[in-house]
Amino acid sequence: MLPVIALVGRPNVGKSTLFNRLTRTRDALVADFPGLTRDRQYGIGKLGPQRYVVVDTGGISGGDGVAALMERQVQQAIDEADHLLFLLDARDGVTAGDLDIAASLRRTGKLLTPVVNKIDHLAEALAAAEFHSLGLGDPWLIAATEGRGVAALMEHVCTLLPEAAEAAAEDQARVRIAVVGRPNAGKSTLINRILGEERVVAYDSPGTTRDSVSIPFDVGEHRYTLIDTAGVRRRAKVADAVEKFSIIKTLQAIEACHVALLVLDARLGIGEQDATLAGHIVEAGRALVVAVNKWDGLDAEQRQRVKNDYQRRLGFLDFAAVHRISALHGSGVGLLLETADAAYANATRELPTPVLTRLLEDAVQAHQPPLVRGRRIKLRYAHQGGRNPPIIVIHGNQTEALPAAYRRYLVNRFRSALDLAGTPLRLELRSGE
Ligand code: GDP
Ligand code: GDP
Repeated sequence: MLPVIALVGRPNVGKSTLFNRLTRTRDALVADFPGLTRDRQYGIGKLGPQRYVVVDTGGISGGDGVAALMERQVQQAIDEADHLLFLLDARDGVTAGDLDIAASLRRTGKLLTPVVNKIDHLAEALAAAEFHSLGLGDPWLIAATEGRGVAALMEHVCTLLPEAAEAAAEDQARVRIAVVGRPNAGKSTLINRILGEERVVAYDSPGTTRDSVSIPFDVGEHRYTLIDTAGVRRRAKVADAVEKFSIIKTLQAIEACHVALLVLDARLGIGEQDATLAGHIVEAGRALVVAVNKWDGLDAEQRQRVKNDYQRRLGFLDFAAVHRISALHGSGVGLLLETADAAYANATRELPTPVLTRLLEDAVQAHQPPLVRGRRIKLRYAHQGGRNPPIIVIHGNQTEALPAAYRRYLVNRFRSALDLAGTPLRLELRSGE
């Protein structure tokens, strides 16, 4: 499971500025997929091979810091965090609000690092001095807008993060499917339905990592692990789906899986939260199967509305199979595992260089890349740069100027020619020689 770093502090100290700096990949993704909703609160940060979840806890109002801290969302993020970065504003100095927040954060017993932001224009020693009065040790000094000090800070933080545990050998051989979706979409019902199918042999697993439960099961020769974000096994303890829902656990499950099974609620319609989750799945590069649940009993008008909403909000998931299902009655559920298998097989397939290069040549012939400053962009050859998700590396000249629309055109050509249903496909463009 990915470690979690939460950014806390009063409003305006620079949390979202730091958040954006740590999770910048999102911008590229948004540019590539028009219409994708941004989620400015949760993201994935990277330092070398280390990946972590970053949470911007938003504003904790200065005056009643303690009360505001109790606000459920923020509290949940803090509960789930491995490390708290407590942001302070060098220009304001230590305020009463900071003292309140420091007191409540200390009570959590979590790793806590004070970070003084906006040190640009200020002498560092001056900036640091008064923050010692918080009693939290030496503060780290950064300027989030220009990135100063941020790398050093994150190196420090990453050395303190818990080691990621390798999945057990037994579990490596299984296709790991994360069942994700917003509260009440029907995840628990679906998991129970899948496990309840006739040919399924489920094992009772104590494999609980931070409340996200792995459920291994077999269907004939096929071996799977469901990653349950709905808390099926905890159902008795917490009844309210909204209370149980955790975007952090969902992000961790997406990272840990081979295939994401995104459950949508056809009755509620497709909303921003669905698009946000879908965006995280694509960004993580995971194979995907979409289940539009609660299809039972919808009238023609409702069905049409769901289809329209899907097009509008989730159009960027055009690579994924969509199953209309009823977890409650079982219709459509039987095909989900097969589709997940196929998606994972595609995600991990080997793509030979001659085939990729020929497809590239065909694509270029059918539709030339544009001219840039009077010279045509040249795309010469292609090879596979990675699997799961498949990465196709294209070599040429001026490739950095290739428009997003042409990239999408190439992705679509490759996808349909190679029959890569179910997996995101990434292009990497290289220029030179
Ligand atoms: P948040 O409310 O804690 O998320 O704060 P924001 O990230 O929205 O930042 C509040 C304001 O402080 C914005 O105008 C930022 O541009 C500014 N800001 C953030 N980091 C820095 C910094 O390192 N130096 C300076 N001078 N301004 C900053
Ligand atoms: P979760 O929060 O995503 O785990 O959602 P649950 O599985 O707890 O389901 C939420 C509610 O939706 C429950 O009342 C379920 O009975 C209901 N539900 C789940 N699947 C279906 C379905 O296929 N059709 C209908 N009509 N209701 C469903």
